[in-house]
Amino acid sequence: MIESASSSKVLHRRLHGPMPVAVRGEGCYIVDASGKRYLDASGGAAVSCLGHSHPRVLAAITAQLQALPAVHTSFFTNAPMEALATHLVARAPPGIARAFFVNEGSVAIEAALKLARQYWLERGQPKRDIIIARDASYHGNTLGALSIGGNLARRRPYEPLLFPNAVHIAPCFEYRHRGPAETAEEYGLRAANELETAILAAGEGRVAAFVAEPVVGATAGCVTAAPGYFKRIREICARHDVLFIADEIICGMGRTGTLFALEQEGIGADIIVIAKGLGAGYQPIGAVLVHARIVDAIAAGSGALANGHTYMGHAACCAGALAVLQAIEDDDLLGNVRTMGALLDARLRDTFGDHPNVGDIRGRGLFRAIEMVADRNSRTPFDPAYALHARIKHEAMQRGLLCYPSGGTADGVSGDHVLFAPPYIVSDAQIETMVELADAAIKAALASLPR
Ligand code: PMP
Repeated sequence: MIESASSSKVLHRRLHGPMPVAVRGEGCYIVDASGKRYLDASGGAAVSCLGHSHPRVLAAITAQLQALPAVHTSFFTNAPMEALATHLVARAPPGIARAFFVNEGSVAIEAALKLARQYWLERGQPKRDIIIARDASYHGNTLGALSIGGNLARRRPYEPLLFPNAVHIAPCFEYRHRGPAETAEEYGLRAANELETAILAAGEGRVAAFVAEPVVGATAGCVTAAPGYFKRIREICARHDVLFIADEIICGMGRTGTLFALEQEGIGADIIVIAKGLGAGYQPIGAVLVHARIVDAIAAGSGALANGHTYMGHAACCAGALAVLQAIEDDDLLGNVRTMGALLDARLRDTFGDHPNVGDIRGRGLFRAIEMVADRNSRTPFDPAYALHARIKHEAMQRGLLCYPSGGTADGVSGDHVLFAPPYIVSDAQIETMVELADAAIKAALASLPR
C-alpha cells in the first residue's frame, strides 16, 4: 500500500489518500502487495474479459515479442495483424470488409471520425462535416472523442477546446425517458426519430456520421436500446446517406453474449469501433472495422488511408488480441457469458429487486448495472454531493470486491449506478460471491450517508 498518493512521484488520478499496489493476477482475482485478494467483478473498466493470467494469451504475446515486437506499418505488414483482421472481418456484421488497429479506444474513435470525413472527401462532398451523437454517452477522452461524447462531467473543463460541429440528440434510455403512456416500441421509435429531426435541422448533405454505443457503457450503466430503436436508426441513416458508426469499445467482443453487440439489434454499421475486450488487458489495442462502401470509395479515390500513428498494428498487441479471440471461440466463452450473465441478472434481481434504493436492474450478458435512487416511486436520484457511487466503490474494495460504480447516471450530474462486468471465465460461485459482497458494500455505503 502506498499510504498516501501525495508521497508518490506518479501523478495519480487522486493526489490524496492511500492506494493499494497490485502485484499479481490469478484468474478472476487481483492480489495486492499485502496479499489481499480482490474478486474482479469489473475487469477494470470492463476490459479484462479473460481474467488476469490466461496462459494462451500470455504464450502468444511472449512468442511474438521474441520473434518481432513491432514494425512500422508504412514499411511492413505483419502476420498477427493480418490474421487478426481476417478473424474479425469474418465474424463482423455484414458489409465489414477491412480493419485497422490502434492502441486505445479513444484513438480508435478519432480514427473512425477521420475516416468518415475522408469518405465524404473521397466522394466529393466536403460539406459533410457534422457529427451527430447522443447525450449520456462516452466515446473517449481525447478532444475529438470528448467533442462527440455526452458525458457532461468529462466534457465540462474542456468545452472551449471541443470542436463545434458535434450535435447531440437524446439517448434511448427507457428508465429515464419513456413516457408513462408509451409502449417500449413507441418510445424506441420516438427516440430514433430524433436523429432524423437533427439531420434535417443540420441541412441536406451536411451530416457526415451518427455515432452511438449499441449498449451504453459507464456513463449511464448498461443501457440497452428499446426494441426497434437501432433498426429505425439504420433506416434513417440510409435514407439520408449518413454513416453509422457503432462504438462497441465497451460492449463489443462478447461482453453482451454475442461477439458484436449489434448482432442482437439485427443491424450492421459502416464503421465499428472496438477496444477493451479485444486486448482483454493483456495488450493495449483498439480497432476500426470498415464497411466495403468506405474501402471502395478510398480505393477509387486517393487510394490511401489519411491517418497514421507510430504504434498502429503493433505485432505483439495483435498477437495478444488474436489469442484472446481464439480463446473466446475455442472455449465457448460466449456460452458462458450468456449462462453466467443470466445468473448474474437473476441474483441481482433476487437481492435488489425490492430494494428501496434500487430503481432499475438492466444490461445484457456479463454487462449488468443497477441504478441507485433515493426514492423508487419518483425515481429521484441521491444528492450528487454524497457521491454515493464513490462510497460504494470504496466499501466494495474494503471487502475485496472490484465493481465499477459511476455518477451522473440520471441527467449527467445526478444519479448513481453500479456496473458489473466480470471476466467471461467467471464461475457461478464467484457470481454469488460478487452479488453478496456488492450487497454488503451498498448497505455500508447507504448507512454512511448523512441523515
Ligand atoms: N467508448 C466507449 C464506449 C468506452 O467505454 C470507452 C472507455 N471507457 C472509450 C470509448 C474510450 O476508450 P479508451 O479509454 O480505451 O480510450
